[in-house]
Amino acid sequence: MTEISTFPEARTVVVTGGASPRGIGRVTARRLAAEGWAVAIIDIDEAQSRGVADEIAEEFGVPTVGVGASVADESQVRAAFDRIEAEMPQLVGLVNIAGVSSPVPFLEVTVEEWERVFAVNMRGVFLATRRAAESMVKNSLGRIVSLSSISAERGGGTFSKVPYSASKAGVVGFSRAVARELSPLGVTVNAVSPGPIDTDIMGGTLTDDRKQDLSRDVLVGRVGRPDEVASLIAYLLGEDAGYITGVNYDINGGLHFS
Ligand code: NAD
Repeated sequence: MTEISTFPEARTVVVTGGASPRGIGRVTARRLAAEGWAVAIIDIDEAQSRGVADEIAEEFGVPTVGVGASVADESQVRAAFDRIEAEMPQLVGLVNIAGVSSPVPFLEVTVEEWERVFAVNMRGVFLATRRAAESMVKNSLGRIVSLSSISAERGGGTFSKVPYSASKAGVVGFSRAVARELSPLGVTVNAVSPGPIDTDIMGGTLTDDRKQDLSRDVLVGRVGRPDEVASLIAYLLGEDAGYITGVNYDINGGLHFS
């Protein structure tokens, strides 16, 4: 029988894609810091990564580090985690938030576009998860949450199209299969699938007209907020969520039931 490991007082969460000023990642990093996590940001934008890490350290008084790395590049991911583990408390959490959109119609999708999207949305999730899991299993303790999307469930329908939808569907299958292997070793693995959220990923900041358009079939009548997604992620990362693994959580205001 697997022993239940309790959380250490000092614990680190790595948030990929945490640098975007209006993104889900930054808000999630702030939420986790407020709950006492030491926070490591990995984002392709090094200056913004450091800026968000400094802002969080100042505001919440927890250890932070901001690293510039592409999640699509194995050596950069390994170097980032090596540095984070050298400087920060025990790695307990990973949130795979880094992602790119792709509004290209299918008949115009080139191999380059396909590879660009999968490199970040799918290979990036694989590389960060693989590296984080190597450390987590040594402590028999870990929490991994990866961002999928309602786009995977509905076949697009918001902004991005086929490569995005396919890569985000991959995240769900990936999370379930990794959960099967790692849960017996103390690491839970889950996915979160947001509906339309008020960030800049859908081609820039949403105007009121676009928000209204995106809200048309949303039962609660509006687009979601990054902090609403962050609170779900924070729950799944918490000590209390140790019996939840291999699950894909919808957070879409009732736009889709699965
Ligand atoms: P965002 O564009 O604000 O943030 C994405 C972040 O990923 C940025 O900080 C960007 O710099 C980073 N990033 C991109 N490529 C990277 C790479 N190669 N390496 C490291 N970092 C990289 O977008 P967001 O809306 O906050 O989206 C966050 C996640 O949530 C994404 O995975 C997205 O697909 C998913 N999602 C968003 C929505 C939505 O409506 N906003 C809905 C469903 C799912």
